[in-house]
Amino acid sequence: MEKRKNVAALRRMVCGLLVGSAVLLAPGGAGQQAHATGSKTTPTAESIKEKENQISQIKEEKESLKDGLSDLQEIKKNLEQQKDDLKNYVKELDGNLEEIEAKIADLKEQISAKEAEIQQTQAELEAARKREEEQLEAMSIHIRLTYESGEPNMVDLLLQSKSFGDFLNTVDYVEKMVASDNRMWQEYRAAKEYVQLCKEKMELEKEILDETKENVEIEQKNLEELIEQKNRDIISYETDINNKENAIREYEAEIKAQEDEIRYLEAIVAEERRQMIANNQSALVYDGGAFKFPLASYTRVSDDYGMRIHPTLGVEQFHNGVDFASATGTAIYAAYDGKVVAAAYNASMGNYVMIDHGDGLSTIYMHASALYVSKGDVVAKGDTIAAVGSTGRSTGSHLHFSVRLNGSYVSPWGYLSL
Ligand SMILES: [Zn+2]
Repeated sequence: MEKRKNVAALRRMVCGLLVGSAVLLAPGGAGQQAHATGSKTTPTAESIKEKENQISQIKEEKESLKDGLSDLQEIKKNLEQQKDDLKNYVKELDGNLEEIEAKIADLKEQISAKEAEIQQTQAELEAARKREEEQLEAMSIHIRLTYESGEPNMVDLLLQSKSFGDFLNTVDYVEKMVASDNRMWQEYRAAKEYVQLCKEKMELEKEILDETKENVEIEQKNLEELIEQKNRDIISYETDINNKENAIREYEAEIKAQEDEIRYLEAIVAEERRQMIANNQSALVYDGGAFKFPLASYTRVSDDYGMRIHPTLGVEQFHNGVDFASATGTAIYAAYDGKVVAAAYNASMGNYVMIDHGDGLSTIYMHASALYVSKGDVVAKGDTIAAVGSTGRSTGSHLHFSVRLNGSYVSPWGYLSL
């Protein structure tokens, strides 16, 4: 019983000595790694080199992440100069918003990629730790067996050592004894270095993840500021008394341009329809079914269909659709089965989608922050086609929803209900 306890104490001392002398015996570390190749589960010089390369790559990546942030002040300054031309101003601004949004999407992608990498590193780290423990255990057993099987005099000598200095005098002997364990010991050191490299890599990756998240937050804040600024600028432009007549003229010209674009698209749809019927192909048919409400959620009707006093211009104007106030990013649904006629950008409509439902019936969805369909896509009622935004001539996040029948706007309330 007494002997067993002593052996355990000795084992602890010998292991401590081994770990300590590792530094003394191989100060460079890297040069010795070439010999550290052992069993298949042991990290090789190549795997350690690879890990080191990965770490320097990550460091470079971290530096490059700092670039690519938008300079909001610069954007604002450039925009100030164009503000006297509202149409170009809105177009320019929407272009910037699009760019920032693309950057945010890119950063979010980077974050999920980084998260996956961290998960993998975590698994590697666990494996390396386990390997380290196993090797330490194997070595301890080997040393214990060596002591228990032979040279009891030396054991006694070690146990009788009065001080650590005394004990160090026996290092020479211990090193000789351990020489046979050299290969195992090298493996243990390699595993430990590998664990440390894994750790370092993971910590760097975490740092990058945090930085990326911070960047996304900055970009999102920039985006919100830009949208806010645009809302304020449009309102101040349209409500400015000195500017009033000009603002009304501009608005009417934009609505006219919008109308021209829609008519042009309808002419294309009508021509295609004629050709399909001429070729005995079946053209789209609207079966008279009720529309699906085109939004995942909304807060209120902010501007209804029909003649009304324009909210900022202050004059009576026809509003060709219903405005639903809704949070940016809210899913916009196809109100009915159909074919996408347009998914594009227009100065007044912003990012918009037009869907042909057949028999001269179509729906238009305006001011989207993102478009998820392309011209020619066939969509089913309820498909997500875009996300709510405030692009184009818009002073707040909303969906403008229009219905056209045989070349004219009709009330959307004839097709859908709240
Ligand atoms: Zn509207």
